[in-house]
Amino acid sequence: MSQRNPIRMVVFGAGGRMGAAVLAALSRDTRFELAAAVLREGDERLGLQVPGFAQRRYRNDPHDTEADVAVDFTSAAQFDVVLEHCVRQSWPLVAGTTGLSSEQMHAMDAAASEIPILWASNFSIGVALLQRLATLAAAALPDFDCSVLETHRRGKLDAPSGTALALGDAIGRARDRSTRSDALGASDAERASDTSAVSYHSMRLGDTVGEHVVIFAGASERVELVHRALDRAVFAEGALRAAHWLVGRAPGRYVLEDLFDAAGDRDLLR
Ligand code: NAD
Repeated sequence: MSQRNPIRMVVFGAGGRMGAAVLAALSRDTRFELAAAVLREGDERLGLQVPGFAQRRYRNDPHDTEADVAVDFTSAAQFDVVLEHCVRQSWPLVAGTTGLSSEQMHAMDAAASEIPILWASNFSIGVALLQRLATLAAAALPDFDCSVLETHRRGKLDAPSGTALALGDAIGRARDRSTRSDALGASDAERASDTSAVSYHSMRLGDTVGEHVVIFAGASERVELVHRALDRAVFAEGALRAAHWLVGRAPGRYVLEDLFDAAGDRDLLR
């Protein structure tokens, strides 16, 4: 696919933890250049130089920016504004913000008639493999109770995490059932009447980057699948990989698996 070189990228949420990780990854990756680092209105860093990018200052409104792709790690409360910007500017969007409502998911579907959009609750290939292993276990152990335990940093806004919900959905599909993730899954008490329901448990501890444990428990035995993200660079590099892949695609909704398919990584995840 023919692409501009380097690809000009707008980073929404540049002032946050993930935004900083994306900027750091961008500064090491010659395939990209920073078109704009966007902060929310009122952020005290607006107008200051973006660390590592001598020619760029943080800004709030990127409407006059020329860019080839946008990456979003903001918050559910701000996501609508980001989506509006991308549609108006015709920027392909790689979105990682979690905790989005079903209305926001529908808004993404609608916007995808105009721009290519790849949203993922987790950009790590390790989590993609965890999901695959969890679906295998769910199908192989249909009578085992299943819980997803997730730990993230103090202050993370949504719980359960988007990744935990995606794992629960995949487990539900493997068991041919909905896990009712809209209702945040079953409690362990509820499970007495619905043995196939997945329950979710969240801990918010210190500066934990992201941990997911999928537990299957039967009579006298237990299987636990664990993924620990040790550095946000994992997600940032995954998002850049997705951005590189998305530029030049037709409008539509894409998922990380499309990218893995194209790269041949899917064999690993089958
Ligand atoms: P954070 O709170 O550190 O950062 C969010 C930043 O976005 C804040 O600095 C906030 O001021 C800024 N922001 C809000 N509205 C904005 C706007 N309109 N324009 C520009 N900036 C705006 O949070 P974080 O840890 O960086 O996570 C951000 C989001 O990414 C969360 O939803 C989190 O769950 C998600 N996340 C996704 C992945 C993934 O792989 N998909 C990985 C980690 C985090």
